[in-house]
Order: sequence, then C-alpha cells, then structure tokens
Amino acid sequence: MRAMIISVGKELLLGDIENTNEVYIARELRKRGVEVIKEITLNDNFSQLRREFQQAVQKIDLLIISGGLGPTEDDLTKEALAGALNLDLVFNEDLYTSFVGERIKLGRKITSNLKKQFYTIEGSEILSNQWGTAPGEYLTFLNCHIFLLPGPPYELRNMFSNYVKDFVRTRDYIGLRSLSVVNMGESQVETLLRQKLNLPELEVNTYVHDKLVEIKLLSKGQDENKVNKRLDLAEEQLLELFRGNIYSFKIENLQERVVKLCREKNLLISFAESITGGFLAKTITSCSGASHILKYSIVSYSNEVKHEELKVDQDTLDQHGAVSYETALEMARGLYQKGYCDIAIATTGEAGPCPAEKEVGKVFAAFYSKEKQLIQEFNFSGNREEIQEQTVRQVLFLLVK
Ligand code: ATP
Ligand code: MG
Repeated sequence: MRAMIISVGKELLLGDIENTNEVYIARELRKRGVEVIKEITLNDNFSQLRREFQQAVQKIDLLIISGGLGPTEDDLTKEALAGALNLDLVFNEDLYTSFVGERIKLGRKITSNLKKQFYTIEGSEILSNQWGTAPGEYLTFLNCHIFLLPGPPYELRNMFSNYVKDFVRTRDYIGLRSLSVVNMGESQVETLLRQKLNLPELEVNTYVHDKLVEIKLLSKGQDENKVNKRLDLAEEQLLELFRGNIYSFKIENLQERVVKLCREKNLLISFAESITGGFLAKTITSCSGASHILKYSIVSYSNEVKHEELKVDQDTLDQHGAVSYETALEMARGLYQKGYCDIAIATTGEAGPCPAEKEVGKVFAAFYSKEKQLIQEFNFSGNREEIQEQTVRQVLFLLVK
C-alpha cells in the first residue's frame, strides 16, 4: 500500500510551527507496514489544494490529509477536495443538531461560522470527533482511500488511533532500529556490513551525519514479535562487529524495554545523576509502569551533594575529580546503600563547553548491584544536549543488554 500525507496550513510553510502531524502519521503508518512514498505541505489556497488533491488520488492507495477542516475562512480542505473529485458538499443536519445540543448543554456559544464544519463531501463516511469540533471524513475515489483529519495534534492523534489504525491493521508490521558508528567512514562501515553480516529479511542502509555513520535496520512481517526478534539479533551482530566504535544506540522504545524487563525480573532501579541532570529519571518516568521499577532518583550535581548524600569520599573527589571511574563507582555504591533498589545507576561526565584541560564528552556510568559492579567509560562528541542524550541511551541500552 502506497501512502501520501498532505499537511495543510500556511503556519507550517512559515516555519511557525513544526509539522508534528506528518512525523506522527508517517511513523504510525510505517509501524503498520504502510509505505509513505510522498509528503507535501500546502498553503491554504483553494486552487493549489484542488490541483494537488486531484493528482494525488490518481497515484496513491491511501491519502491522509491533515488540517483545514475548521470553521474559519482559511479552512478550505473539504471544499478543495470536493472540487477535485467533482463532488458536492452537503449540509449534515443531524450532525449539526447534535453538535448544537451538546454545545448548549455545556453553556458554550454557537457562532454562525461553526455551521461550515458540518458541510461534508457527498458519499463520505463521517468520522465523529469527540476531541474537538470539526468532524473528519473517510471516502474512496478510484482506488484511493482518503482520510480527512483535523489539524490540532491532539485531535489528529486520537482520530488517527480511532479510525486509521483499524483501516491499516491487516498490513505487515515494520520495525526500524538505528545505531551510529564513530571513527569509521561510510565505505568502511558498508564493506564490513557486506562482508560480515548475515541478516536475512532485513534491509540495511547507512547515512552520514557529521562525524558518524548511522546504520538503519528495517524489517517487515505479519508477526510483530518475530520482526522485533530479528532486529534484536541484528543489533547483537552489529554490536559485536563495531564493538569499540558504537557511538549511540537509538532503539525504538528503549525505555519501555527497560521498564518491561525490570518488571519481568522484579528489579528496582535508582539513579544518581550528575551529567544527565535528571534526564534518565525523566526518560524512565515517561513510560507507564515506571512506578513499579523506579523508587528514587537524585540529581547529585555538586560535589557537596555527591559527598553528603551519596557518601563519595572527599579524598576521591579531591584526587580523581568528579568525572572519574572512582567517583562514579562511589556514587552508585552510596546510592545502592540507601536501600531503595536492586541496581543503582550513577552518571558523571563533562558535557562541556569547558576549559581546554577538561575532556568534553568523557562520561562514566556506574551500575551497582549486590552481585555485580560495572563502570563504563564513554567518549562522546557533540554539544551538551547530545552528550547527555547519548549517556541516557547508553545507560538504557546497558540495562537491557
Ligand atoms: P481547527 O478547527 O482547530 O481550525 P483545522 O482542522 O482547521 O482545525 P488547522 O486550522 O489546519 O486545523 O490547524 C489548527 C492548529 O493545529 C494550527 O494552528 C496548528 O497549531 C495545529 N496544526 C495544524 N496542522 C499541524 C501539523 N501538521 N503539525 C502540527 N500542528 C498542526
Ligand atoms: Mg482551522
């Protein structure tokens, strides 16, 4: 199934707002095996919209249009699509009456322009919108299935989940993973991949960003678990192959995997964060179920707090500094001894920019449990945010490994 996304709205072309709807729709479709082959953003201009809609329906199996369904004069999506398909707009009396009833119950005003939202394209199926006021629509033309969805992201996501997900449910699942490699050129990475990797049913592509080569793995199949297993195996092979040069691991839902795994194993974790400043705790608490695995977290940014709260020895701090193997270990140990967890995780590092004698990107992550202690040193590059992000990713990755 070949899909196209059309986003409507001048504010998108002005760069005033980010096109998050497009990213959301593309990602959700991809996960369900639908390939998005084209995406365009259009102005609130009737003739341009009509022309582009006319072209799209000839070539595409699934067309998703977001925005421009509202009551204002610049909301022209339905009008232009009706024009493109040579169909009429019909006033939907029942829908309007029930909308007015609801509105009166809520004590809200009814402005005359709201009526415009209840003109729908003849023959279309109305997709009721309980998250906003403008209804969506579904219709088919030639071989093209068309969804009209409202622009506000909250409404769009709910409408997509409610209507489009069902429509594409039967398609293959597409899983995507990505990792980046430093200190190697793209051709070197590609040669290694070709010679050493045995990855059936996988598409492997490389991309170059700044100083690193990103490897993207894509796999499709009916069974989501099998696809994910295939990708897990591929990740393991890649880790082995590029061992010292793996720069960052971007795994979809890495934090969710951590939460799931810890719940399965009945493990509690805690964080003592210096370089990551709470980012780890924030990432984990963004997942539902986090309360079952995370009991405690501290941003131990200053040396005083490292010493007083985590019992890092003053001598350790004086001799080795805050960014050191020894400090990381003692931070994790002090955290573990507070008794809130089975695995205590500490981060410390230089996020820069800082004086020349300091090594920007040098990071230590320590893992402390009854059975095992592991201290990992990293040398990341990038700006502050990128270094923090990579630290979080690597810590989560080590937790699921
Ligand atoms: P409304 O009834 O709110 O007017 P609508 O379907 O007409 O709904 P638009 O007028 O196109 O939607 O957009 C409303 C708001 O939704 C925009 O001002 C913008 O903040 C947000 N929005 C629209 N399209 C997108 C998009 N592609 N990505 C992110 N936000 C968007
Ligand atoms: Mg609008």
